[in-house]
Parts: sequence; C-alpha cells; structure tokens
Amino acid sequence: MNIPTLSDYKSVVGRDVIEELCILASHVGNRSIKMVNSTSTGGGVAEMLHRLVPLLNELGVETKWEVIKGGSDFFDITKAFHNALQGNKEVLPSEAFNTYRAYNEMNSHEMDFDEDLIVIHDPQPAALIQSSLHRNNKWVWRCHIDMSHPNQQVWEFLRPYIEQYDAAIFSSPLFSPELSIPQYRFYPAIDPLADKNRDLDISYINSTLEKYKIPRDKPIITQISRYDPWKDPVGVIRAFKMARKNVDCRLLLVGDKVADDPEAEAILTKVKKEAKDDPDIHIIFLTQSIPTEINAFQRASDIILQKSLREGFALTVSEALWKYRPVIGGSVGGIPAQIIHGFTGMLVHSVEGAGLQIRTLLSQPELARSLGENGHQRVKDEFLITKSLKRYLLLLLALDHPAQDTISLT
Ligand code: UDP
Repeated sequence: MNIPTLSDYKSVVGRDVIEELCILASHVGNRSIKMVNSTSTGGGVAEMLHRLVPLLNELGVETKWEVIKGGSDFFDITKAFHNALQGNKEVLPSEAFNTYRAYNEMNSHEMDFDEDLIVIHDPQPAALIQSSLHRNNKWVWRCHIDMSHPNQQVWEFLRPYIEQYDAAIFSSPLFSPELSIPQYRFYPAIDPLADKNRDLDISYINSTLEKYKIPRDKPIITQISRYDPWKDPVGVIRAFKMARKNVDCRLLLVGDKVADDPEAEAILTKVKKEAKDDPDIHIIFLTQSIPTEINAFQRASDIILQKSLREGFALTVSEALWKYRPVIGGSVGGIPAQIIHGFTGMLVHSVEGAGLQIRTLLSQPELARSLGENGHQRVKDEFLITKSLKRYLLLLLALDHPAQDTISLT
C-alpha cells in the first residue's frame, strides 16, 4: 500500500480539516522541528513519530527525527527512571544518575540542534537540554508517561533539566507537576490510514489468526501491550480466569520487544507462570510487530483490554475504539480521556472489576456494540493524527507568545 499523504485524509476527517491545517501551516511559515526519542520501533512514541514526521514535512514544516544511542546499562537506568516516574518507590544508586548524564552528554556531541524547535520525548534524552545553553531556538520536553505519582528522587533529579526547557507538554492535567516553565496539554493520536489501523480484508484477519494458531471457536479477549508491569498482564490473566467461570472465551496477550525496554523477558516469565499452560490463553511475544497483524488481532477480538495500572495515554485504546471494538481499560492516566465509562467503553479499578466487565460485555452484545460505535466517534473527534498535526502547528505559534499558565491545545 502507498504511504498516505495529507489529501488522503480528506476521506476520513473531511476537506475542511485538511484545509485548516494548510492555512495554519502557512501562518507558521518557514520553520523546522527536530524530534528526539530513544527508540525507532516499538512503543507509542515511535508509532506516532513514524507518521507525524512525514506529514509535518508535507505541511512545509521541515521535521527530522533522531534517536539517542546508549548501551544496555543506559536503557536499564532509563527504564528504572520510567518506572520511578510512574510511581515505583525503589531508590536508585548515585552511579545511575552519573551514567544517565554521561550518555546524554555523549549523544549531545554527536547531534546538532539547529532547528527552530527541538522536541525531546520522555526522560531518556531529557538532559540533552544541556547542549542548548546559548540557544536561539525553542526546546520543549514532551512527556508521554504517567506522572501522577512520581518518585521524588528521580523527579527531583530531572526537574532542573526540565526547567531549562521553554515549555513542557503532558497528555493529562493529572500529570502536570509544578514547574517554573509553561505547560501545554495535548493528547497523542493514531493514524487511521496506517497499516496498524486501516481496513483489512477478512481473509487477511483469518489467516493471521491461523498463522498464530488461535481458534475462532469462542469469543476472543485481547490485550496488546509491551510486557511491562504497568500494563498488568498478570492482572489480565486473573480477570480472564474469573470471567471464564461464567462465559467461555479465549485470552490473547500480544507484546513485542522494544529496544529501550529491557524488562520484557522477566515479565513474560511471570505471565507464563500465571497462565499455567491453559489452552485458552495464547501468549505471543514478537521480536518485531507487523502492523497489519496487530491490526488483525484487534479486529478479530470481541473485547480489547488495556488493564494498565499507570498509563501515559495508551494508543492501543484509541486503536481498538477506532475499529469499533468494546474496550475495558484501567481507570488511570490517559485512559479516561478516551473511555467515558459506560459510553465509549468501560473503566475498571481492579482485577475483579475487569473480570465482571468481560462477563457483562460478552453477555450483552448490544451494549458492547454501542460502546464500539461511540468509541469510534470519540477517536474521530479527538485522537486522530490530523488533530496532532494541528496541535504541533499551534505549538509553534504559541511558543512565540510564552505564557506562564497551563495551556490546552485542543
Ligand atoms: N504495539 C505493537 N505490538 C505489540 C505491542 C504494542 O505494535 O506487541 C503497539 C500498539 O499497537 C501501539 C504501541 O505499540 O501502537 C503502544 O503504544 P501505547 O501508547 O499503547 O503504549 P506504550 O508502549 O507507549 O506504553
């Protein structure tokens, strides 16, 4: 399939939306952006950048994307930072901070930062701001993680870096800490025309399930997520087992290996132990995901779970809602922005709650169908990539007028 260009989105969001983007881009004028994150594949940030970068370029905003480099010692530490910022209370040794600084410094010598706007995604490359001391451009820190309960040791280490930025962006007001710099709030988004989300032939969906030996004899409940404790895959298995006492169904857990996430194998071992070779539980660990296959898994599912315990946003929720799937999500982080309980999906606070909602949705297909319909509309209104493009264009304009308050770019 050809890579979609802006005009292809007219058929999804309407001509007006695309015209508005072009008008906004003309106001932005001749500016450039550099995005920096820590992995080119896997996880939500890479997923978005793959599509945002070419579309911003098409709008005339010259946009580059670079990935910082690091050894396994660096990514072990940044995953510990990630976990700490999401609430893990573990105290990190001082060498961890030295290693973090050293890798950021090494990367800063290998990169240039000549663009008008530098967007640094998440904590891994946050200390690159040190290279900007005599800058005449703008730097923004884009935080994608759930910062509702940050571990103070790590946050107090990072804060002096973050406060050197011109602004910070968070996905939810729940995460916005007190900072001396302006804050913007905007949501991530999915690309409806990407292989991950576009329509698929039923024959492809069927052959994907056959390939992974997943029978279609009973309803399929699916969670697609990195094997990460915050995604609670063990809780998913427990909820599934509770529901299955009353309704027959299968569970599909799909997760892939992500370069900047070293924890997957250890979590996978715990997941397999919990599943105990149950023939109705299918655990798939992919070296690298094929987007159309993930799309097929989502479309083949009767219910999608995202039972996270902390969550920056969860693109997987919007991906599933876009496909009219009923979604059960943990009531944390960015999930309630997508799931309006009882209208666009079901929010849960416990394993028992998730088990009960699986039962409810499997026994009330009309309710499940209406959640999917409403969810699709909500994603269309709020969480498509065209909205993200608009927010980046507005950000470029807003940075010309720095404010001290939190600003929501809707
Ligand atoms: N994903 C995937 N294969 C997997 C697991 C996840 O392609 O095995 C994708 C998923 O479809 C979504 C992204 O990776 O597009 C994960 O983004 P999300 O915001 O849900 O979570 P994150 O991993 O960034 O915490």
